[in-house]
Amino acid sequence: MKPAPFRYADPGSLDEALDVLVAEGAGAKVLAGGQSLIPLLSMRLAAPATLVDINRVPDLDTVEATGDGVRVGALVRHVGLLHDAAAARVQPLLARATANVAHPAIRNRGTTVGSIAHADPSGEMTAVLALTGGSVTVATPSGRSTVGWRDLFVGPLETSVHGPAIVVDAFFPALPPRSGTAFAEISRRKGDYAVCGAGVVVTLSENGTVSAVRASYLSVGLVPEVYDLTDAVNGQAADSADWAAAGELARTLVDPDGDLHASADYRRLLVGVLTERTLAEAAAEAVLRSAA
Ligand SMILES: Cc1cc2nc3c(=O)[nH]c(=O)nc-3n(C[C@H](O)[C@H](O)[C@H](O)COP(=O)(O)OP(=O)(O)OC[C@H]3O[C@@H](n4cnc5c(N)ncnc54)[C@H](O)[C@@H]3O)c2cc1C
Repeated sequence: MKPAPFRYADPGSLDEALDVLVAEGAGAKVLAGGQSLIPLLSMRLAAPATLVDINRVPDLDTVEATGDGVRVGALVRHVGLLHDAAAARVQPLLARATANVAHPAIRNRGTTVGSIAHADPSGEMTAVLALTGGSVTVATPSGRSTVGWRDLFVGPLETSVHGPAIVVDAFFPALPPRSGTAFAEISRRKGDYAVCGAGVVVTLSENGTVSAVRASYLSVGLVPEVYDLTDAVNGQAADSADWAAAGELARTLVDPDGDLHASADYRRLLVGVLTERTLAEAAAEAVLRSAA
């Protein structure tokens, strides 16, 4: 199928892009990497009157890694974040999760921010934004605002960003001290959307025992959620904690749906398996980082 006819604008500045969005009204859509939007158009699942291509807007293609966290501009491609060593040092989940996003051809063009704006509950970066306690910066004609992940994700493929608005960056806070992370997913073929995926953060106290355990999953709920699993292993030694108990707790907390790809029961099983596996890995990393 071919897309329904649409008007196309490729403004050269952010202000110009917002002007076009105002002028075109509700029928306009932002186009970034096009790796989600163009297939939707081609299948006629979306038919915006106007595409506002932001690829010529300057200053949106940088990754800034500081002690506080990593700010990813709206035109940073998945591949750019995947290979950004400074970003990986500050928040290792970014590269680990991005490595699982689609195939290289899609990673070359698709953007991290576009992935978050698309709000697919099967997307890796929505889960990572939630797990790290991240936020996005939204530009509108009246100025910029910061929207935290919890207020951003409203439903599957739906965010609270409406009207003439462009997400100009996403901010992922740094990994806390004495912490480790891990990310794993199960998909039918490498690069496909995950049947189930898990990202976790384990934090240790100064004496090396487990003090905080958090997890977020993909393809499990309608919107990203963060689960506190600390109670299952609180105060246990990092190298011998009962990660199976944490996996069991996670299984009781999630409420996945079944679909063509997997039953709800199978997804729940995967949540337990992936949680146990990733937590052991993250704890080992937390031990190494604590010693460094
Ligand atoms: C075969 C295939 C497999 C894929 N597998 C995966 C996968 O495993 N995991 C995964 O996470 N993704 C996957 N994707 C999607 C891919 O990661 C996309 O790149 C991403 O979801 C959207 O980014 P984009 O820059 O291409 O956005 P676009 O397609 O350009 O836009 C997507 C949506 O976000 C909006 N948008 C984009 N940028 C902005 C912005 N700055 N401000 C406001 N709104 C904006 C658009 O209006 C549109 O509604 C896959 C895609 C394909 C085609």
